[in-house]
Amino acid sequence: MSNIVAIVGRPNVGKSTLYNRLTETRKAIVDDFSGVTRDRHYGTSEWTGHEFTVVDTGGYVANSTDVFEAAIREQVVIAIEEASIILFLVDVTTGITDLDDDIAGLLRRSKKPVFVVVNKVDNNNQQVDATVFYSLGLGEIYNISSMTGSGTGELLDEMVKHF
Ligand code: GDP
Ligand code: MG
Repeated sequence: MSNIVAIVGRPNVGKSTLYNRLTETRKAIVDDFSGVTRDRHYGTSEWTGHEFTVVDTGGYVANSTDVFEAAIREQVVIAIEEASIILFLVDVTTGITDLDDDIAGLLRRSKKPVFVVVNKVDNNNQQVDATVFYSLGLGEIYNISSMTGSGTGELLDEMVKHF
């Protein structure tokens, strides 16, 4: 597979909602995988003639907080290895959390293109709130609403430049 786009981020930021918006077909996952691997979903997508695979990552593998965070970190490490582009999804309604900072630290060390995607920007007032995410130190931010689709076209236009 080439052109792999991995969506990473802590729970509840809207990864699966964005994945469902971006993908047209969803490949069945073979069940002979470890927990973290099984907790990944692959789908195909296309934008302006560029085909790519989207990966939705979970991170719900365990119930203790420690293992939970370890699972998310592991998803990020796999994404850094396998993806052509990483979408780091964050949530404008919560701002930056400790886990966001933790993930940002891992991503800053990766050589892969990382897009900071600020989700749940459903209205114009939230565009201002979104600017705090520049402080993650990962460059440009892309404000979207996975619910309405707002901003996703601009994001896709920038993503396909890397294919
Ligand atoms: P995940 O845990 O990161 O996969 O997050 P989900 O995709 O399951 O979404 C978590 C919650 O956020 C759900 O209740 C979604 O409906 C909601 N959500 C996702 N995207 C948006 C958005 O753009 N705006 C708003 N207001 N809610 C959203
Ligand atoms: Mg999900």
